Amino acid sequence: MAEKRKLTFAFVPLTGCGGCEVQVLRAFTLYPELQEMYDIVYWPFVVEEEELPEHVDVVMVEGAVRMKKDIEMLRKARFAAKYLVVVGSCASFGGINGQADYFPTVENMKVVYRREKLEKTEEILERVYSPADLVPVDYIITRCPPLPETIRMVLVNLYEGKKPPATVETVCAQCPRKMKPIEQPIDEKFFKKGLPGPDVDPNTCFLSQGYLCLGPATIVGCGAPCTRAGIPCFGCGGPAADIAVRRDEDIPVVIARIIATLAGMDPIEGGEKVLEILKKVYGLRRFYTFTLESEVFRRKPRGFAIQVLSEKRVKGEAKSR
Ligand code: SF4
Ligand code: SF4
Ligand code: SF4
Repeated sequence: MAEKRKLTFAFVPLTGCGGCEVQVLRAFTLYPELQEMYDIVYWPFVVEEEELPEHVDVVMVEGAVRMKKDIEMLRKARFAAKYLVVVGSCASFGGINGQADYFPTVENMKVVYRREKLEKTEEILERVYSPADLVPVDYIITRCPPLPETIRMVLVNLYEGKKPPATVETVCAQCPRKMKPIEQPIDEKFFKKGLPGPDVDPNTCFLSQGYLCLGPATIVGCGAPCTRAGIPCFGCGGPAADIAVRRDEDIPVVIARIIATLAGMDPIEGGEKVLEILKKVYGLRRFYTFTLESEVFRRKPRGFAIQVLSEKRVKGEAKSR
Protein backbone atom coordinates (compact mmCIF):
# COMPACT_ATOMS: atom_id res chain seq x y z
CA MET A 1 0.00 0.00 0.00
CA ALA A 2 1.32 3.43 -0.95
CA GLU A 3 2.53 5.52 1.96
CA LYS A 4 0.17 8.36 2.84
CA ARG A 5 1.59 11.67 1.72
CA LYS A 6 2.53 14.26 4.28
CA LEU A 7 0.24 17.25 4.56
CA THR A 8 1.61 20.77 4.43
CA PHE A 9 1.43 22.95 7.54
CA ALA A 10 1.83 26.68 8.08
CA PHE A 11 1.73 28.78 11.22
CA VAL A 12 0.66 32.40 10.95
CA PRO A 13 1.18 34.63 13.99
CA LEU A 14 -0.97 37.77 14.22
CA THR A 15 -1.02 40.02 17.31
CA GLY A 16 -0.52 37.79 20.32
CA CYS A 17 1.97 37.02 23.05
CA GLY A 18 3.54 34.01 21.29
CA GLY A 19 2.27 31.64 23.97
CA CYS A 20 0.13 29.69 21.51
CA GLU A 21 3.07 29.46 19.13
CA VAL A 22 5.19 27.92 21.87
CA GLN A 23 2.45 25.39 22.58
CA VAL A 24 2.21 24.38 18.91
CA LEU A 25 5.98 24.01 18.87
CA ARG A 26 5.73 21.88 22.01
CA ALA A 27 3.09 19.71 20.34
CA PHE A 28 5.47 19.06 17.43
CA THR A 29 8.29 18.14 19.82
CA LEU A 30 6.29 16.21 22.42
CA TYR A 31 4.53 14.21 19.70
CA PRO A 32 7.16 13.54 16.99
CA GLU A 33 4.58 11.61 14.93
CA LEU A 34 3.29 15.04 13.89
CA GLN A 35 6.60 15.62 12.10
CA GLU A 36 5.92 12.42 10.14
CA MET A 37 2.48 13.71 9.15
CA TYR A 38 3.24 17.34 8.31
CA ASP A 39 5.77 19.29 6.25
CA ILE A 40 6.18 22.73 7.76
CA VAL A 41 6.14 25.09 4.77
CA TYR A 42 5.78 28.42 6.55
CA TRP A 43 6.35 29.43 10.17
CA PRO A 44 8.45 32.58 10.70
CA PHE A 45 9.74 31.38 14.07
CA VAL A 46 10.75 27.93 12.83
CA VAL A 47 11.55 27.72 9.09
CA GLU A 48 13.25 30.08 6.66
CA GLU A 49 10.53 30.42 3.98
CA GLU A 50 9.52 34.06 3.84
CA GLU A 51 6.21 33.78 2.00
CA LEU A 52 3.11 31.80 2.82
CA PRO A 53 2.58 29.38 -0.12
CA GLU A 54 -0.61 29.73 -2.18
CA HIS A 55 -1.90 26.33 -1.15
CA VAL A 56 -1.41 24.77 2.29
CA ASP A 57 -3.33 21.86 3.78
CA VAL A 58 -3.50 23.16 7.36
CA VAL A 59 -2.88 26.76 8.39
CA MET A 60 -2.92 27.62 12.08
CA VAL A 61 -3.47 31.24 13.07
CA GLU A 62 -2.47 32.64 16.45
CA GLY A 63 -3.43 35.96 17.99
CA ALA A 64 -6.03 38.65 17.47
CA VAL A 65 -6.38 41.17 14.66
CA ARG A 66 -5.04 44.46 16.03
CA MET A 67 -2.99 45.84 13.14
CA LYS A 68 -3.85 46.47 9.50
CA LYS A 69 -1.16 43.99 8.48
CA ASP A 70 -2.96 41.32 10.54
CA ILE A 71 -5.99 41.60 8.27
CA GLU A 72 -3.85 41.13 5.16
CA MET A 73 -2.08 38.13 6.68
CA LEU A 74 -5.38 36.60 7.77
CA ARG A 75 -6.80 37.00 4.25
CA LYS A 76 -3.74 35.26 2.80
CA ALA A 77 -4.06 32.48 5.37
CA ARG A 78 -7.74 31.92 4.54
CA PHE A 79 -7.13 31.85 0.79
CA ALA A 80 -4.18 29.47 1.17
CA ALA A 81 -5.69 27.05 3.66
CA LYS A 82 -7.62 23.92 2.95
CA TYR A 83 -8.28 23.85 6.69
CA LEU A 84 -7.92 27.07 8.64
CA VAL A 85 -7.51 26.40 12.35
CA VAL A 86 -7.51 29.29 14.81
CA VAL A 87 -5.52 28.50 17.90
CA GLY A 88 -5.86 30.11 21.35
CA SER A 89 -8.42 32.36 23.02
CA CYS A 90 -7.19 35.47 21.16
CA ALA A 91 -7.74 33.90 17.74
CA SER A 92 -11.00 32.25 18.80
CA PHE A 93 -12.72 34.98 20.84
CA GLY A 94 -10.40 38.01 20.92
CA GLY A 95 -8.86 36.70 24.14
CA ILE A 96 -7.01 38.86 26.63
CA ASN A 97 -6.15 41.19 23.73
CA GLY A 98 -9.78 42.28 23.67
CA GLN A 99 -9.30 43.90 27.08
CA ALA A 100 -7.27 46.58 25.34
CA ASP A 101 -10.53 47.98 23.98
CA TYR A 102 -11.72 48.71 27.48
CA PHE A 103 -9.30 51.65 27.42
CA PRO A 104 -8.63 54.31 24.77
CA THR A 105 -5.82 53.19 22.42
CA VAL A 106 -3.83 56.38 23.11
CA GLU A 107 -3.91 55.64 26.84
CA ASN A 108 -2.84 52.04 26.25
CA MET A 109 0.17 53.22 24.25
CA LYS A 110 1.17 55.65 26.98
CA VAL A 111 0.82 53.14 29.78
CA VAL A 112 2.41 50.18 27.98
CA TYR A 113 5.14 51.93 25.97
CA ARG A 114 5.52 55.04 28.15
CA ARG A 115 5.38 57.26 25.10
CA GLU A 116 3.72 60.61 25.01
CA LYS A 117 3.98 60.80 21.24
CA LEU A 118 2.60 57.86 19.35
CA GLU A 119 4.19 56.42 16.25
CA LYS A 120 2.61 54.61 13.31
CA THR A 121 -0.86 54.85 14.80
CA GLU A 122 -2.39 54.50 11.35
CA GLU A 123 -1.30 50.85 11.54
CA ILE A 124 -3.40 50.22 14.62
CA LEU A 125 -7.06 49.39 14.08
CA GLU A 126 -9.78 51.11 16.06
CA ARG A 127 -10.60 47.89 17.87
CA VAL A 128 -9.41 44.33 18.39
CA TYR A 129 -11.05 41.60 16.32
CA SER A 130 -11.09 37.88 16.69
CA PRO A 131 -9.88 36.27 13.43
CA ALA A 132 -12.79 33.84 13.79
CA ASP A 133 -15.12 36.83 13.36
CA LEU A 134 -13.51 38.04 10.14
CA VAL A 135 -13.08 34.94 7.98
CA PRO A 136 -14.71 31.50 7.98
CA VAL A 137 -12.67 29.09 10.05
CA ASP A 138 -12.76 25.32 9.97
CA TYR A 139 -11.67 24.54 13.53
CA ILE A 140 -11.22 26.43 16.76
CA ILE A 141 -8.73 25.33 19.40
CA THR A 142 -9.45 27.72 22.22
CA ARG A 143 -7.66 28.22 25.59
CA CYS A 144 -4.96 30.65 26.70
CA PRO A 145 -2.66 29.03 25.86
CA PRO A 146 -4.02 25.87 24.22
CA LEU A 147 -2.75 22.48 25.36
CA PRO A 148 -0.28 20.52 23.19
CA GLU A 149 -2.45 17.39 23.48
CA THR A 150 -5.47 19.26 22.05
CA ILE A 151 -3.32 20.61 19.21
CA ARG A 152 -2.08 17.08 18.55
CA MET A 153 -5.60 15.66 18.58
CA VAL A 154 -6.79 18.17 15.97
CA LEU A 155 -3.73 17.69 13.73
CA VAL A 156 -3.94 13.88 13.88
CA ASN A 157 -7.66 13.93 13.04
CA LEU A 158 -7.13 16.28 10.12
CA TYR A 159 -4.29 14.11 8.84
CA GLU A 160 -6.52 11.03 9.04
CA GLY A 161 -9.31 12.84 7.22
CA LYS A 162 -11.58 12.79 10.28
CA LYS A 163 -13.49 15.60 11.94
CA PRO A 164 -11.92 16.54 15.30
CA PRO A 165 -14.51 15.83 18.02
CA ALA A 166 -16.49 18.69 19.56
CA THR A 167 -17.70 18.83 23.16
CA VAL A 168 -20.34 20.65 25.17
CA GLU A 169 -18.76 19.73 28.51
CA THR A 170 -17.43 22.36 30.88
CA VAL A 171 -14.55 22.61 33.37
CA CYS A 172 -16.94 21.28 36.04
CA ALA A 173 -16.75 17.85 34.34
CA GLN A 174 -13.08 17.58 35.35
CA CYS A 175 -13.31 19.43 38.67
CA PRO A 176 -13.24 17.23 41.77
CA ARG A 177 -15.22 19.72 43.88
CA LYS A 178 -18.85 18.86 44.61
CA MET A 179 -21.68 21.33 44.28
CA LYS A 180 -23.68 21.55 47.52
CA PRO A 181 -26.93 23.36 48.36
CA ILE A 182 -26.56 26.99 49.43
CA GLU A 183 -28.39 27.32 52.74
CA GLN A 184 -28.04 31.05 53.35
CA PRO A 185 -29.82 33.94 51.59
CA ILE A 186 -28.23 35.08 48.34
CA ASP A 187 -27.36 38.74 48.77
CA GLU A 188 -24.29 40.92 48.31
CA LYS A 189 -22.86 39.66 51.61
CA PHE A 190 -22.89 36.06 50.38
CA PHE A 191 -20.36 36.71 47.61
CA LYS A 192 -16.68 37.06 48.41
CA LYS A 193 -14.03 38.88 46.48
CA GLY A 194 -10.33 38.06 46.30
CA LEU A 195 -8.67 34.67 46.41
CA PRO A 196 -10.15 31.97 48.66
CA GLY A 197 -8.35 31.57 51.97
CA PRO A 198 -7.56 28.47 54.06
CA ASP A 199 -11.09 28.50 55.53
CA VAL A 200 -12.51 27.32 52.20
CA ASP A 201 -13.61 23.67 52.02
CA PRO A 202 -11.28 22.01 49.45
CA ASN A 203 -13.92 19.46 48.44
CA THR A 204 -16.84 21.82 47.89
CA CYS A 205 -17.64 23.83 44.79
CA PHE A 206 -16.61 27.48 44.97
CA LEU A 207 -20.07 28.62 43.89
CA SER A 208 -21.59 26.84 46.89
CA GLN A 209 -19.17 28.79 49.10
CA GLY A 210 -19.83 32.26 47.66
CA TYR A 211 -16.85 32.54 45.31
CA LEU A 212 -17.29 33.34 41.66
CA CYS A 213 -16.11 30.41 39.54
CA LEU A 214 -16.55 30.45 35.76
CA GLY A 215 -16.11 26.68 35.42
CA PRO A 216 -19.73 26.02 34.35
CA ALA A 217 -19.36 28.49 31.47
CA THR A 218 -15.88 27.37 30.34
CA ILE A 219 -15.01 24.64 27.88
CA VAL A 220 -13.67 21.38 29.30
CA GLY A 221 -10.15 20.11 28.63
CA CYS A 222 -7.65 21.72 30.99
CA GLY A 223 -8.26 19.19 33.80
CA ALA A 224 -9.36 22.00 36.16
CA PRO A 225 -5.88 22.73 37.57
CA CYS A 226 -7.00 26.01 39.11
CA THR A 227 -9.92 24.68 41.14
CA ARG A 228 -7.73 21.76 42.24
CA ALA A 229 -5.16 24.30 43.45
CA GLY A 230 -7.76 26.31 45.36
CA ILE A 231 -8.38 29.06 42.79
CA PRO A 232 -11.73 29.52 41.04
CA CYS A 233 -11.74 29.15 37.26
CA PHE A 234 -11.44 32.53 35.53
CA GLY A 235 -12.40 31.22 32.11
CA CYS A 236 -9.09 31.12 30.21
CA GLY A 237 -10.30 28.08 28.24
CA GLY A 238 -12.92 30.12 26.46
CA PRO A 239 -16.68 29.67 26.54
CA ALA A 240 -18.42 26.31 26.57
CA ALA A 241 -19.71 25.46 23.10
CA ASP A 242 -23.43 25.76 23.86
CA ILE A 243 -22.97 29.18 25.44
CA ALA A 244 -21.11 30.34 22.34
CA VAL A 245 -23.62 28.99 19.82
CA ARG A 246 -26.93 29.60 21.61
CA ARG A 247 -28.04 33.19 21.21
CA ASP A 248 -30.15 33.09 24.37
CA GLU A 249 -27.23 31.97 26.55
CA ASP A 250 -24.51 34.16 27.98
CA ILE A 251 -21.76 33.70 30.54
CA PRO A 252 -23.14 35.64 33.55
CA VAL A 253 -26.65 34.29 32.92
CA VAL A 254 -25.43 30.68 33.12
CA ILE A 255 -23.48 31.29 36.32
CA ALA A 256 -26.38 33.16 37.95
CA ARG A 257 -28.83 30.40 37.03
CA ILE A 258 -26.65 27.71 38.61
CA ILE A 259 -26.22 29.72 41.81
CA ALA A 260 -30.00 30.27 41.98
CA THR A 261 -30.59 26.55 41.54
CA LEU A 262 -28.06 25.68 44.26
CA ALA A 263 -29.90 28.10 46.56
CA GLY A 264 -33.29 26.51 45.85
CA MET A 265 -34.55 29.57 43.95
CA ASP A 266 -36.42 29.49 40.67
CA PRO A 267 -33.66 29.11 38.06
CA ILE A 268 -35.06 31.80 35.75
CA GLU A 269 -36.63 34.42 38.05
CA GLY A 270 -34.18 33.69 40.83
CA GLY A 271 -31.37 33.61 38.30
CA GLU A 272 -32.23 37.16 37.25
CA LYS A 273 -32.06 38.30 40.89
CA VAL A 274 -28.70 36.60 41.35
CA LEU A 275 -27.49 38.16 38.10
CA GLU A 276 -28.23 41.66 39.42
CA ILE A 277 -26.28 40.89 42.61
CA LEU A 278 -23.35 39.46 40.63
CA LYS A 279 -23.23 42.62 38.51
CA LYS A 280 -23.05 44.77 41.64
CA VAL A 281 -20.45 42.67 43.41
CA TYR A 282 -18.10 41.75 40.55
CA GLY A 283 -19.11 43.92 37.61
CA LEU A 284 -19.88 42.47 34.19
CA ARG A 285 -16.33 42.84 32.88
CA ARG A 286 -15.20 40.00 35.16
CA PHE A 287 -17.20 37.56 32.98
CA TYR A 288 -15.56 38.58 29.71
CA THR A 289 -11.82 38.49 30.38
CA PHE A 290 -11.22 36.35 27.29
CA THR A 291 -14.29 37.10 25.18
CA LEU A 292 -14.91 40.86 25.36
CA GLU A 293 -14.23 41.55 21.68
CA SER A 294 -15.82 38.44 20.24
CA GLU A 295 -18.74 39.14 17.92
CA VAL A 296 -20.30 36.02 19.40
CA PHE A 297 -20.70 37.91 22.69
CA ARG A 298 -21.01 41.46 21.33
CA ARG A 299 -24.10 40.30 19.45
CA LYS A 300 -25.82 38.43 22.27
CA PRO A 301 -29.34 39.86 22.63
CA ARG A 302 -28.81 41.16 26.17
CA GLY A 303 -25.67 42.99 25.11
CA PHE A 304 -23.61 42.54 28.28
CA ALA A 305 -20.25 42.63 26.47
CA ILE A 306 -21.31 45.81 24.67
CA GLN A 307 -22.32 47.33 28.02
CA VAL A 308 -18.83 46.59 29.34
CA LEU A 309 -17.22 48.18 26.28
CA SER A 310 -19.44 51.23 26.63
CA GLU A 311 -17.86 51.85 30.05
CA LYS A 312 -14.60 52.45 28.15
CA ARG A 313 -12.27 54.09 30.59
CA VAL A 314 -11.28 57.65 29.95
CA LYS A 315 -7.93 59.41 30.01
CA GLY A 316 -5.95 58.80 33.15
CA GLU A 317 -7.94 55.86 34.44
CA ALA A 318 -5.91 53.33 32.45
CA LYS A 319 -3.13 53.70 35.00
CA SER A 320 -5.30 52.22 37.71
CA ARG A 321 -6.25 49.04 35.88
S1 SF4 B 1 -4.40 32.98 23.52
FE1 SF4 B 1 -3.12 33.45 25.29
S2 SF4 B 1 -1.20 32.41 24.87
FE2 SF4 B 1 -2.29 32.57 22.91
S3 SF4 B 1 -1.56 34.50 21.98
FE3 SF4 B 1 -3.42 34.97 23.14
S4 SF4 B 1 -2.64 35.66 25.13
FE4 SF4 B 1 -0.97 34.54 24.15
S1 SF4 C 1 -18.25 25.75 39.52
FE1 SF4 C 1 -16.02 25.72 39.69
S2 SF4 C 1 -15.58 24.80 41.68
FE2 SF4 C 1 -17.71 24.32 41.15
S3 SF4 C 1 -17.62 22.31 40.17
FE3 SF4 C 1 -17.53 23.87 38.54
S4 SF4 C 1 -15.36 24.21 38.20
FE4 SF4 C 1 -15.55 23.16 40.16
S1 SF4 D 1 -9.57 25.92 35.45
FE1 SF4 D 1 -10.34 27.65 34.20
S2 SF4 D 1 -8.81 29.27 34.46
FE2 SF4 D 1 -7.85 27.33 35.13
S3 SF4 D 1 -6.80 26.51 33.32
FE3 SF4 D 1 -8.87 25.61 33.33
S4 SF4 D 1 -10.13 27.02 32.07
FE4 SF4 D 1 -8.26 28.13 32.61
